[in-house]
Amino acid sequence: ASRPDLTRTRTTCGYCGVGCSLEVLTRDGEITAVLPDLDGPVNRGHACVKGRFAHGFVRSPERLTRPLVRRDGRLEPASWAEALDRVARGLRAAVAEGGPDAVAAISSARATNEENYLVQKFMRVAIGTNNVDNCSRLCHAPSAAGLTASFGLAGGTDSFDDVERADCLLLVGANPVEAHPVVGARLLQRVLRGTRLIAVDPRAVGLARHADVHLRPHPGTNVALFHGLAHVLLAEGLADEEFLRLHAAGLPELTGLLAEYPPDRVAVLTGVPAADVVEAARLYGRAERPAIVYGLGVTEHLHGTDGVRALANLAILRGAVGIGRGYGVNPLRGQNNVQGASDMGALPDSLPGYGKVTDPVATARATEVWGVPVPTRPGLRIPEMFAAARAGRLGALWIIGEDVCATDPDATRVAEALDACPLVVCQELFLSETARRADVVLPAASWLEKDGTFVNFDRRFQRVRPALPLPGEAGTDFAAVHAVAAALGVDLGCVTPADALAECARVAPMFAGLSHARLDREGAIPWPCPDPDRPGEATLYRERFATPDGRARLAAVPYLPPGESPDEDYPLVLVTGRRWAHYNSGSMTRRTDNLRLDAEDRLDLHPSDAVRYAVRDGEPVVVESRHGQATLTARLTDEAAQGQVFCSFHFPSSQVNTVTSGHSDIETSCPEYKVTAVRLKPL
Ligand code: SF4
Repeated sequence: ASRPDLTRTRTTCGYCGVGCSLEVLTRDGEITAVLPDLDGPVNRGHACVKGRFAHGFVRSPERLTRPLVRRDGRLEPASWAEALDRVARGLRAAVAEGGPDAVAAISSARATNEENYLVQKFMRVAIGTNNVDNCSRLCHAPSAAGLTASFGLAGGTDSFDDVERADCLLLVGANPVEAHPVVGARLLQRVLRGTRLIAVDPRAVGLARHADVHLRPHPGTNVALFHGLAHVLLAEGLADEEFLRLHAAGLPELTGLLAEYPPDRVAVLTGVPAADVVEAARLYGRAERPAIVYGLGVTEHLHGTDGVRALANLAILRGAVGIGRGYGVNPLRGQNNVQGASDMGALPDSLPGYGKVTDPVATARATEVWGVPVPTRPGLRIPEMFAAARAGRLGALWIIGEDVCATDPDATRVAEALDACPLVVCQELFLSETARRADVVLPAASWLEKDGTFVNFDRRFQRVRPALPLPGEAGTDFAAVHAVAAALGVDLGCVTPADALAECARVAPMFAGLSHARLDREGAIPWPCPDPDRPGEATLYRERFATPDGRARLAAVPYLPPGESPDEDYPLVLVTGRRWAHYNSGSMTRRTDNLRLDAEDRLDLHPSDAVRYAVRDGEPVVVESRHGQATLTARLTDEAAQGQVFCSFHFPSSQVNTVTSGHSDIETSCPEYKVTAVRLKPL
């Protein structure tokens, strides 16, 4: 018999925020290979080990293929009809008892733009609340807040192509070689060919090993360091005075503040030698085309938004953003669609396209399209949802694609919140730590089975296309939201994902030029894209900043210490982050047979600390904070700074997030994953 034909499906990687374009080859409904797309706008024929090989999870025997409902305390298989009936009854009961604000939903980067759009529409239209948030709360919410305050829009200022043309790169709190491998490889090429590199990272990893200057501040002292760099820019006449005069606001206030941050004092606050602060400032200050690229080492702090703003100050002082020369301020988004989840309005204070729920113009536009009044009181953020559940004020919590019990900080308290909530609904691929605690579990679709779009780290909408049929009774988040709405007797419209993006384009002027048909025809398109006949804006602020007066805003925010500092009882600082072979909670990469490259989590610590605390390489060690403890295998490495330990959060079994603190960014509630005071005990 002849073999079935090979099918080629062009789609977008569902792992990190680089958004590599991939070609998935299937035969008879099974993947035979995943190839990087030679024409991919970011990856250009490259992909990393995750995108190419971490797809075996779709056929894992652990995959959920039927709904589950809790009966007599146990999760048991059920029909979709029974599961939906249970969800609908729970939602009605929650609203009857506590009103619409007794219901909350957590959406995520695992969902497409169209799914995120539909979730937030469901919450606002069918329930009548703004209690909808997404996983950016845990990573780049400070970027959205900080970049909006500094420049006017919630995305990075430039395309990655712009960044590649820089002659000096200020890379802060990011390890793209592991967390964004294709970007890491492209940046490494540029550095090896002469682009000057200033790396700011407590650890000596990845690109930092190739830096002209490597600054290793104490975790939690970013704002002081950025002010030290800004101080030198001003003191040495490296600021662009004409740009500041024409296009910036806030210089007198910032100048006054920066007087308190001379390099000698910054050295005391941050641990970075004063001479290195000066050298780094001169490199950035004298470059023709400087670019800033940063990651979660800037945002996941008690003062993460201040960190973003203090970093943006440097680009403004140099006139190295928008109308000026240079390539701006660019966050590396960790997850495939974390930018898009926020763009689509899965936020408690923003509608699709970032119109505020308190803005009558934005709500009037949404109300006209949706046909019902939009609630105008900002909803709960994710940590507030958990607090409300623990306080008995939440009757139903719907969680889509997030394993909050594994990935959110102070995980013991998160589990308490779920246990206290009368109805927890979870849409998942596997029986995650969160799903185990749910009352209803709906079997979800993976990125290889979905139709829609993602937005990557440099604001490009790209098409996601299904390469595989859905297993068993699993359904897309798009279908599940429609089904729950129908069970409540609500018709959400937007029958297809293409319909949803078309409707979103009517609600949000910045997406008005986008459609599936156009993306199919033209390929990736960046936002803002208000006109179907014009390209999107890959580089922002070419004519003016998007602030009310068109000027970039300098921020005079003082340095304040992190939520926890090492002391006698807890003398070390724990920093968490990513490893190259795995992705987030590891639910997909750990279940992939062809990816057994990194089988367990490790606690990295400096050899001198290992001697001090009697810890041996390769042996188990207990890491303990004021919040909890976890057991990991010690790895002695000089990548770790003295006085600091590092581990990932890819292995829920090690329960690292029972250790991390509940401190969070003052502005946005983003957790301070990067600073927890801990101590070590050999097992
Ligand atoms: Fe590209 Fe990131 Fe996917 Fe790797 S994980 S293939 S770098 S999008």
